[in-house]
Amino acid sequence: MHDTPNPFDYYVILDFEATCDQGKAPKPQEIIEFPSVLMCGKTFKIIDEFTSYVRPLHHPQLTKFCTELTGITQQQVENAPLFPEVMTNHMAWLHHHNLQIHPKGSGSSFAFITCGDWDLRSMLPNQWRACEPPLRAIPYAYRQWINIKVHYMAFRETKRAPGMAGMMRALELELVGHHHSGIDDSRNIARIAQHLGEQRVSLGITHFVDPPVNNR
Ligand code: AMP
Ligand code: MG
Ligand code: MG
Repeated sequence: MHDTPNPFDYYVILDFEATCDQGKAPKPQEIIEFPSVLMCGKTFKIIDEFTSYVRPLHHPQLTKFCTELTGITQQQVENAPLFPEVMTNHMAWLHHHNLQIHPKGSGSSFAFITCGDWDLRSMLPNQWRACEPPLRAIPYAYRQWINIKVHYMAFRETKRAPGMAGMMRALELELVGHHHSGIDDSRNIARIAQHLGEQRVSLGITHFVDPPVNNR
């Protein structure tokens, strides 16, 4: 075990997949896969995974392009719950692991890790606005995150932000599974985070969303 300067007890690596098409994304764009990997902030070991497909409300039919990119089939999303139910399940999973979702709540400290800012800066707020009936405000824990690219760039002393595959190549890590499958991407981003953590990079928050999105 390393004596690391990490500010969080746990990390939750998250990588959404969403409705898409060649060129332009459908509006509103909706989440179709909601995966997470739970990693210990001290040992960098993977503790658990959460994964769920999500049924899109506004564009229920996936494009051929989307299925080819993500590997997610029409049948998988048709059999999946709508976003509000998956969000509830995801929060229940965080609760089950005794993670602190609200700043004044009890539990272990944790933060989300994403590759880029799109997942929690754009996609989650857009998904929130697309929900009918409206949802309460996005919970605190989902309004701050660690963009792994920021720590990668500092660690490598580079101003160039490569994608997930580029970072893995540079760090000589094997990209396992299907790139653009949400759970495989989450596991691969977790490998990058593990690598940086083991090199004693302090994985602190890089972005906050303020004020919270509330579409009520
Ligand atoms: P990723 O995490 O890189 O797999 O991408 C997340 C989402 O961004 C995908 O589920 C798509 O909705 C969209 N996306 C990624 N790459 C492309 C692409 N080349 N063309 C269109 N949409 C894309
Ligand atoms: Mg992604
Ligand atoms: Mg992905």
